[in-house]
Amino acid sequence: MLALVIVAALGGAGLGLWWGGRRAQQRDPLAALTDHLDDAVVLVGADDTITYANHAAAALAGRPSDAIVGTAIAGWIARPDRPAMQAALARVRALPRGQASRILGRLEHPSEGPRTVRGRAYNPLGPTGREVALVLRDITVSEALEEGLGRRAFWDSLTGLPNRDLFTDRLAHALERLPAATPSYLLVIGVDDLRSVNEGLDLAAGDQLLRTLAERIQVSLRPDDTPARLTGDAFAVLVERPASPGYAAELGERLSGMVRLPISIGELTITATAAIGMTVLGADTTVETAISEAETAMYQAKATRTAGVVSYDDSLRRGAATQLHLRMELPRALHQGQFRAAYQPIHATSGAALRGSALAGFEALARWPHPGRGPVSPAEFIPAAEASGMIGELGRWILGEACQQAALWNAGADRYSMSVNVSGEQLGDPQLAEHLSAALEAADLPAELLIVELTESVLVDTAGTIDALAALREVGVGIAIDDFGTGYSSLAYLQRFPVTRLKVDRAFTVEICTPSGRKLVRGILDLARELGLSTVAEGVETRAQLEALAELGCDYVQGYLLGRPQGPEDLADVL
Ligand code: C2E
Ligand code: CA
Ligand code: CA
Repeated sequence: MLALVIVAALGGAGLGLWWGGRRAQQRDPLAALTDHLDDAVVLVGADDTITYANHAAAALAGRPSDAIVGTAIAGWIARPDRPAMQAALARVRALPRGQASRILGRLEHPSEGPRTVRGRAYNPLGPTGREVALVLRDITVSEALEEGLGRRAFWDSLTGLPNRDLFTDRLAHALERLPAATPSYLLVIGVDDLRSVNEGLDLAAGDQLLRTLAERIQVSLRPDDTPARLTGDAFAVLVERPASPGYAAELGERLSGMVRLPISIGELTITATAAIGMTVLGADTTVETAISEAETAMYQAKATRTAGVVSYDDSLRRGAATQLHLRMELPRALHQGQFRAAYQPIHATSGAALRGSALAGFEALARWPHPGRGPVSPAEFIPAAEASGMIGELGRWILGEACQQAALWNAGADRYSMSVNVSGEQLGDPQLAEHLSAALEAADLPAELLIVELTESVLVDTAGTIDALAALREVGVGIAIDDFGTGYSSLAYLQRFPVTRLKVDRAFTVEICTPSGRKLVRGILDLARELGLSTVAEGVETRAQLEALAELGCDYVQGYLLGRPQGPEDLADVL
């Protein structure tokens, strides 16, 4: 209502002159008109500096009008809201004369913290005027009240970013006015393994991690990009009017790098990783499809451990459908005996290793030669088995298979170890130790020849995990930490796990011939030695990598250089 009065008053001819004149004068007709209003009235010039602020605006800012006029509006807007509010101002400038746009955001107050304001932005003179009028009401108190009543709030209290509700609102706006010339994009940034931080360290550490990542995302954005906290462990960025066609993907790559920078939490330094998915907003995109597409791409990035950005496309659409099919087909495939075990040799690096004849053991890897689809990758069917509750059965099958095979291969005087992967779900099964004993007994295999591999990210530092591991150790099997270096390895809690072996992830092996990679691997190996663990490097593909690892004292190596995973019949000549 009040807003309309002002626009009507400002809408007359010669308005520009009138405004132009007032700023130099003390007595100002605009002030006379607006100073008694309860709503804050602010004029913003073409260069985003404030050209006028009434009494209510000064009260809102906690500074006299004189101290506000002439400063950049950006400095007043709370940081997380800058991109969206500045983008809104830019949009309003392009509107026809007198048309309004809704505004919602927070403005900084020097002593009271950010104030939430809601209101309208007008373009009193049309696109030629370039000046925007804001009429704002302080809703901080009513917002807090609503929040107290459990109704929707707009901002995530932890990171200060817009929350999902506000973000979907902004996304809907963006979809309504998709520019024809340049596409808009949605990025979803899923933080990996937040659960491990929350459970392994504590909730405050998880909060600190999220706050740090939120800050890093914000400083990486242009004013036109809108960030948000989408879910507990995911952020989103809406990219509108990108400067170049590749901008959104570049931004994603940049964010991926920013996330990876070390983060100090109390005494600890951890490194986070994130999976980033991206989708293009098209004419028939809805808020729901946009988010679901970007999330699907993000999950794909997670599943394939892609360091950069994964874009949503038709193959991903099909991939999601495939996952569902695999899930449904799994039980029958397992019962019909479609699965096979492949074995990859593990070599010792000492002495004979460099001549390539120090076979020390094998890792069993599940294979699904699907009759219709051809070979299905474990990266696809293991998640499907976990999601459908079939992983326990699949795990017991491969365990039995691997123990029988190991017993055969150890029938001579040889001592080959057999490593079997165990998923996080299986570790949670209180009967796991019993299954292990039963499989060992059935195959008549000594327990110390069996090694259970658990990926680092499932080794959360809780009493439950330690007890579960201790139960396995009691059976007498070895325990290896798989994919070491890719999770949140707080070295302090490594010490508490009763593990026997550490497997250095392939990502480090790939880097070993660079000075920094070598340093990292040396650090990991030193640590393992100190903890009395044996070490295996995964993914060894070149002679140079093998030699570097042997030189650094890595005990065992595994990788295509020494042998691919193969069926037992093809391994006869290796033995
Ligand atoms: P993982 O336990 O880290 O297994 C190592 C993976 O690296 C295997 O992929 C192996 O084929 C591959 N690999 C070995 N050497 C090289 C190399 O030199 N270069 C490259 N690029 N890759 C190499 P695979 O067989 O596709 O298995 C993928 C993952 O699926 C495994 O990772 C493991 O986490 C899971 N998995 C496989 N079999 C089982 C199983 O029986 N149970 C469970 N729970 N998980 C399994
Ligand atoms: Ca493994
Ligand atoms: Ca591994």
